[in-house]
Amino acid sequence: MEAQPTGKRRRIVLLGGPGSGKGTAAAWLAKKLAVPHLSTGDMLRAEIAAGSDLGREAAASTASGRLVSDDLVLRLVAAHLGKDAAPGFVFDGFPRTVAQAESLDRLLHERASRLDLVLHLDVPLAAVEERIVGRLGCPSCGRVYHATRMPPKKDGVCDVCGAALQKRKDDNLEVLRERWKVYGEWGPRLVAYYRRHGGFAEMDADVTAEELYAKVWEATTA
Ligand code: AMP
Repeated sequence: MEAQPTGKRRRIVLLGGPGSGKGTAAAWLAKKLAVPHLSTGDMLRAEIAAGSDLGREAAASTASGRLVSDDLVLRLVAAHLGKDAAPGFVFDGFPRTVAQAESLDRLLHERASRLDLVLHLDVPLAAVEERIVGRLGCPSCGRVYHATRMPPKKDGVCDVCGAALQKRKDDNLEVLRERWKVYGEWGPRLVAYYRRHGGFAEMDADVTAEELYAKVWEATTA
């Protein structure tokens, strides 16, 4: 775990179903690589909380577990990527469709850049239900906790920034099942897309957070 990345694997996408640990792993990896963690789910929740036009457009879909439109997500992503070739990033929750994956390739190409690594975190639905139902998040810094598996030091308070932790509205079993249905539709197509493009790795992510970090780091520095 001490080694620095040997190659240029700093432009990374994490794929995986809801509750697969990709948010936690992406936050950890982005910090370790000192690159931005770009979560489209977090971007959308921030827009919704701010009451922006874009947030209003996205609110109903996110609340019910359906995908928001590719166009809306791509507007957000383009704004967060900026105009220059990003030195690095860890995408989490994006791309969600093949059209988004193709658009990301184009966006990066326009910036004379490309993805270095796509990591697929594989977890069965049975393993994520308990993770999702107990999940808590910090609305301020995005750190993710779990009521019993990864609790904050002080009940209900973020260890990092002291904000009050919140439960996501879509973290309940009913919406989770809809999100899995959506993932079942798109996930395999995305995996197939990225398998063809090289720089793809997948791992059994039904493990503890520490074990997942070790696996992710191994793939990043391989
Ligand atoms: P997440 O935090 O990644 O689980 O995303 C929460 C919700 O935001 C999803 O259930 C979707 O409604 C929406 N969302 C996030 N990312 C995307 C995306 N790339 N494409 C479409 N919808 C998305």
